[in-house]
Amino acid sequence: MNISSDLDRTLIPNGKEFNTYQNSIIASLFGLEELRKGTKELIKDLQNQGHTIHIYTTSFRSKFRIRTTLKYYGIKVNRIINQTETIHASKYPPVFNFDIHNDDLKGIGIEGDKLNFKTIIC
Ligand SMILES: [Mg+2]
Repeated sequence: MNISSDLDRTLIPNGKEFNTYQNSIIASLFGLEELRKGTKELIKDLQNQGHTIHIYTTSFRSKFRIRTTLKYYGIKVNRIINQTETIHASKYPPVFNFDIHNDDLKGIGIEGDKLNFKTIIC
């Protein structure tokens, strides 16, 4: 299955809404963002089960920056869709062939029900 995940408030905190991995001082100096605790293990498990993981965010972070951050945590994802590729302010995962999308926004879940795409709202 093609599984996509949002970043902000889903995998990367905006404040202290969930626990994160402990970053080294060097990582912090380079401005690497904190990552939700358990993300690494969950993505590895899903990949081992044969699923393909993608990032789908409306963030303006560059793909390079997102990939570098994830790499630091030992995570490799397939596609990264950021704001440069999103046509609308909202998300429509089927356009990228994503089977299910993980997000923090309840509105995405409501749109999923309306437009017939699957979501996991955390
Ligand atoms: Mg979000």
